[in-house]
Amino acid sequence: MDRLEQLAGKQFDLLVIGGGIIGAGIAEAATAHGLKVALVERGDFASATSSASSKLIHGGLRYLQMGDVRLVREAHQERRALMNVVAPHLVHRLNFLFPLYDDGPHRPWFVRTGVLVYSALARAKINGRVSERRALRLVPELRTEGLHSSALYADAWTNDGRLTLANVRAAADRGAAVLNYAEVTAIDSDGADVVVDGETVRVQAGAIVNATGPWLDRVRRLEDPSAAPSIRLSKGVHLIADGGENWGAAVTIPHDKVRVSFAIPWEGKLLLGTTDTLHEGEPEDARVTDDDVRTILDEAAVAVRDIGEVRASFHGLRVLPGGPGATANARRETVYTHGAHGMLSVAGGKLTTYRRIAIDALDQLGVRNLDRKPRPLPGATGLSTIDWPVELDPATRSHLLHLYGSLVTEVLAPAVEDPSLLEPIVAGRPDLRAQELYARAHEWARSDEDVYRRRTTVWLQGSEPDSVSAEPDSSLLTG
Ligand SMILES: Cc1cc2nc3c(=O)[nH]c(=O)nc-3n(C[C@H](O)[C@H](O)[C@H](O)COP(=O)(O)OP(=O)(O)OC[C@H]3O[C@@H](n4cnc5c(N)ncnc54)[C@H](O)[C@@H]3O)c2cc1C
Repeated sequence: MDRLEQLAGKQFDLLVIGGGIIGAGIAEAATAHGLKVALVERGDFASATSSASSKLIHGGLRYLQMGDVRLVREAHQERRALMNVVAPHLVHRLNFLFPLYDDGPHRPWFVRTGVLVYSALARAKINGRVSERRALRLVPELRTEGLHSSALYADAWTNDGRLTLANVRAAADRGAAVLNYAEVTAIDSDGADVVVDGETVRVQAGAIVNATGPWLDRVRRLEDPSAAPSIRLSKGVHLIADGGENWGAAVTIPHDKVRVSFAIPWEGKLLLGTTDTLHEGEPEDARVTDDDVRTILDEAAVAVRDIGEVRASFHGLRVLPGGPGATANARRETVYTHGAHGMLSVAGGKLTTYRRIAIDALDQLGVRNLDRKPRPLPGATGLSTIDWPVELDPATRSHLLHLYGSLVTEVLAPAVEDPSLLEPIVAGRPDLRAQELYARAHEWARSDEDVYRRRTTVWLQGSEPDSVSAEPDSSLLTG
């Protein structure tokens, strides 16, 4: 069906604005509750914050330090639901080593007690102290000078962009109209104007949810020009470096009483970061600066020797409830507000707790008989009984299984007739040409960047193909 036809002349129960994890999660949950949904995203799905996170599905050790036990417990529950039911192909357990240096900000007993409580909330069996030998087995590049001891705990990692896409797909499979490159430009009591491929289409909907992350207040002002600012933004930068392939754990690096940074083995590279600095001005103005890069490398060097070549950098913007105070200490709460014409705006929260935020949003909209049980996303079931249509080496298989789950058979089906689709898209990455075809035909990818950056992991190579930019600029952030 034509993109405009999906929206024009239809009456929807719910229009969701914003195709990050929160908007996609709300669309997934709303369709599961029988609502007729339209999901519109100005850029590509997950092109903003939801592909720029630290990729952790975690309780958040630092929230425990801030005394927010409830948030940590809820996040751990969600982690278990995502790992076991919702997306076991995309969310994987990861051990974290917390090295304690003589000149570090914490007393060892404080961290060990914290890790014990955290692990109890996580219902994880591992916790406590690790010998230097074991620490080095887990992280061969760990810096050991001045190392007092290390603690170990468990969380999980994911591919944030693909987790978002899996929610979009779930909503679409249940009949939602899902459109990327479709921007909401006006809002009133019975619907919104959406610009699709240069044409404005009227979308009629019984309810509207604003899930536009850093653009939340801008979209609130479309409904009510006098809406007062409700959020602050904090910039977080990450680097992708070579390394991490033989690591058995990520490293949590403490910098002060609250703030930590991470070195995470991720998709065959090392993900380093993040920073946390107040961003004033428009979301589009945020940039990765030389200072950000230097800070991340300096902070990683506290615990990691010999960081490999930096291949890429990216930034995202955290949405924090408005108000004074340091961004690192600001509570990561989700705030729901109802606008002048009834639009519900959803601000803040975490990737980890997106399902809970989506259900709470439906609750705020008055949806009855909410089903809070975890539901498998497309590709999440039948993982152990996959009938592989073509021969692949184990590393490529596990990469594809991680990205697509059991939908991998759909991805590979055309390669039975055309074996050239089994060639890598770029040397050094396990992504195949078949994925490119699938992304454009079945995953709403419209540009090379959509394919290489958010449907596959080609961009991590930081080079070929030419069209992949290693460092996103504002156009990527805004779509
Ligand atoms: C540096 C950093 C690290 C993080 N690490 C973690 C982590 O490890 N684990 C964790 O659980 N959480 C983490 N988070 C938090 C998590 O990433 C965010 O909470 C989550 O991605 C927010 O998703 P969202 O859908 O609200 O926003 P976004 O992903 O920003 O989506 C909003 C979308 O709205 C679209 N939009 C804007 N205006 C319009 C319009 N007019 N019409 C249509 N669409 C529009 C935008 O294009 C955008 O795609 C991190 C956040 C940051 C910044």
